Amino acid sequence: MSLQPAADVVALLQALIRIPSPNPPGDTREVAAFVAAFLQRHGCDDVQPHAPPEKPQAVSVIGTLRGAHAGPTIMLHAHLDTVPIAADEAARWSVDPYGGVMRDGHIYGKGSVDDKAPLAAMLTALATCAAQRARLRGTVVLVAAAEEETGGVLGTKWLAESGLLPPCDFIIVGEQTDNRVANAHKGVLRATVRAYGRSVHATNPDRGVNAVVVLARAVLALERYHQALASRVHPTVGRPTCNVGVIAGGSTANAVPDSAAAYLDRRMIPHEDPETVKRELEAVIAAVDLGQYGPEARLTVGEYQVSNWFASTVESALGQAFLASVRHVLNADPGPIGYLPGSDAKHLVGCVPAGEMVIFGPGTYEVAHAFDEYTAVEDLQATTSILIHFLETSLLNGMGQ
Ligand SMILES: [Zn+2]
Repeated sequence: MSLQPAADVVALLQALIRIPSPNPPGDTREVAAFVAAFLQRHGCDDVQPHAPPEKPQAVSVIGTLRGAHAGPTIMLHAHLDTVPIAADEAARWSVDPYGGVMRDGHIYGKGSVDDKAPLAAMLTALATCAAQRARLRGTVVLVAAAEEETGGVLGTKWLAESGLLPPCDFIIVGEQTDNRVANAHKGVLRATVRAYGRSVHATNPDRGVNAVVVLARAVLALERYHQALASRVHPTVGRPTCNVGVIAGGSTANAVPDSAAAYLDRRMIPHEDPETVKRELEAVIAAVDLGQYGPEARLTVGEYQVSNWFASTVESALGQAFLASVRHVLNADPGPIGYLPGSDAKHLVGCVPAGEMVIFGPGTYEVAHAFDEYTAVEDLQATTSILIHFLETSLLNGMGQ
């Protein structure tokens, strides 16, 4: 026996789409107020809007539903902001991107899948639980976060670092996994390789040291490093990678350039230590043989930016219960699978010291961030049923009987 949803998830998603929240600029005040009002109306006892002082219009909402009995704390997390409508995208929409249009069993709109669909499903699941609070054993925390689309620094990361998020036993981060359970995503380490030489006129290049040529040696070494990484494999996210995405150097064809740079993206699989990865890159660059170019040829690597990976085994009782809920509702293999894009999960690792976290939601990230973004009603309803089933089996069953 399953509980019936306490709200109309389709109407809720349409209402959320009709409140634009593109980021940039990332003003989530109106959509946050809507979410807060919904939570209050459905019996959430503690509903708090929060915004960082650096960006007061980037409002996130935390709603807490405390049961009548002690039990685990489960966080439902989704983001409030969407990507903006790109200049070349506006004319390609076949419907009003902020109209919440329903057509042929699909709900269209900016944010319809990323990330207002999981948000609507989570709000509905929480409302359903709130109606049963007398037998609720544990706590449900709903986090509707600003700023995900620009990296989460002033959204989820700020909430976590400000101590506004409780320690949890299980976290569900709503993103597009086609209703399967993702238990990991990769981390990213960005780095800059700089090459130095000596500039001379191009009529006699042998008198100088060409930094672009020096850099080319480094780029080829990084390519071999990328190939060698194939030996490391994670069961759901695959292998680490190293990609040189940009090279820059020189100013004119008739001079030998004295500096050049390569910007690289190193994807880390779970359990790769960013410090170790930095040492690896430094070893790759140090091993590039520059002997033929003389002492003025130099390479450096640095200017690192790190964004975390996350991984869960989903072997805990709650992890197993969640997989079972997906299997129960969909009658299909729940995973776990890997998730390729990044998400706010990376900022929540500290909130589950002894617990687990998964990414879960309807649809695919391939239709997110594009024109005619949509969610199938059937998928949205399945997401909602799975969340309700999970909360019911984990926090409601066995009490008050
Ligand atoms: Zn998203």
